[in-house]
Amino acid sequence: MNIAVVGTGYVGLVSGVCFAEMGNEVTCVDIDARKVESLRDGRLTIYEPGLEVYFDRGRRENRLRFTTDLAEALAPADVVFLALPTPPAEDGSADLQYVLGVADDIGELLAAHPDWGYKVLVDKSTVPVGTARRVTAAVGAYGLEAGKHFDVVSNPEFLREGVAVDDFMKPERVVVGTDSERAAELMTRLYEPFVRSGNPILVMDEASAEMTKYAANAMLATKITFMNEVANLCDRVGADVDKVRRGIGTDSRIGPKFLYAGIGFGGSCFPKDVQALHRTAREEGYSFEILDAVLRVNDEQRKSMVPHIVDALGDNDGRLDGKTIAVWGLAFKPHTDDVREAPAHVLIREFVGLGADVVAFDPEAVETTRAAFEREPLGGTGSLSYAETAYDAAAGADALVVATEWPEFRRPDLARVRQSMAGDGAPLVFDGRNVFDPKHMAGLGFTYRSVGRPSFP
Ligand code: NAD
Repeated sequence: MNIAVVGTGYVGLVSGVCFAEMGNEVTCVDIDARKVESLRDGRLTIYEPGLEVYFDRGRRENRLRFTTDLAEALAPADVVFLALPTPPAEDGSADLQYVLGVADDIGELLAAHPDWGYKVLVDKSTVPVGTARRVTAAVGAYGLEAGKHFDVVSNPEFLREGVAVDDFMKPERVVVGTDSERAAELMTRLYEPFVRSGNPILVMDEASAEMTKYAANAMLATKITFMNEVANLCDRVGADVDKVRRGIGTDSRIGPKFLYAGIGFGGSCFPKDVQALHRTAREEGYSFEILDAVLRVNDEQRKSMVPHIVDALGDNDGRLDGKTIAVWGLAFKPHTDDVREAPAHVLIREFVGLGADVVAFDPEAVETTRAAFEREPLGGTGSLSYAETAYDAAAGADALVVATEWPEFRRPDLARVRQSMAGDGAPLVFDGRNVFDPKHMAGLGFTYRSVGRPSFP
């Protein structure tokens, strides 16, 4: 099949590369000329495990191309994916300007080139209920007829950054939202090779497909937040959230996944999708109470370690001037360089605001962090610098914060870390991801704090 992917970010690039790997002809489009140039030159623009092999093969065998010219990709395409940003607007709703803008461009191009034939336009972006209808209207405004010249399908993406290639190649399910049999058949043919193990392709109406994506993310964000609240209570009653997690995770009605307590969720999806669903509910006159709580609790959770650090290191005014804090992990989760809404960034902003000097290390996310803080500079009187290794970050620090559970942070030489940190007493480690064993850490001479687990000493 011939495929166009419009928007070549995390979702668009992974989708394009994986469709090409299945033998399809794929052209990825982006307005960011530097991104396109880099991809054309064979340089990946995101870090995603496993992507490079397929990317190299697709390019080598000329099934995978990149362009800034929408027309070039659209002309031969049977299916056109819109993998465009849908960032939160000021009121929390999903900003559809990119999706509707491109729909408009597509309508104009198709109307001017009737010989390009029937196209299936696919909303791959996470978009509120009603967007497929709005895309249909935008294209239809050029005198094109849905069902004859084009159809619009909602095909939300469930890939997780960090394991995106695996998720895309072997999805647990594919959701296809459309009332058009012709479009459903084309989409089924496209996705069949990805679900050979028997996972379902679920064809449903557009609104249900659009809602499915938000409901999935909102459920997952709620699950994390619920466990974070359980952890906060464990702290107060002297229970251990890790034991509670195992205790409830073995119940098949609950399941073992997404039960890890920590310093809150981040990323480009959960915060914005929960907000957008909350907003959709409000627009419909419905108050989605749980989502309101999820957003509030998560905001608090991301900053929850700040008072502990101020208690331990702060001066009488609650400031951290002259203190050095090492931060391990900048990405919002391991195996990605994505730092959008990363809890580590929230903490760094707080620490620097209170006058601390932060020394950060992340195996993949330093460049994306630099770029993020260039776009939205840190205020405050403290500073942020970057270390080459996790050990360099910790050396001389008054406190160490673990903000992302990269595997390399799980078994470092902690005795070396302990010796290199500042002060003669027991240096403070705040483990926001519960990667270390509390007793072991106390035994090594740290003052160790984690989330929802007993502290020693
Ligand atoms: P992204 O910001 O990484 O990528 C979007 C790309 O679109 C950028 O490269 C941008 O330059 C490009 N773009 C913007 N306007 C354009 C235009 N007019 N023409 C062509 N390209 C244009 O975003 P993402 O993380 O890939 O997310 C895309 C969508 O997928 C969002 O709706 C998101 O919610 C959803 N989603 C993301 C994930 C994820 O893990 N990142 C997972 C599932 C769904």
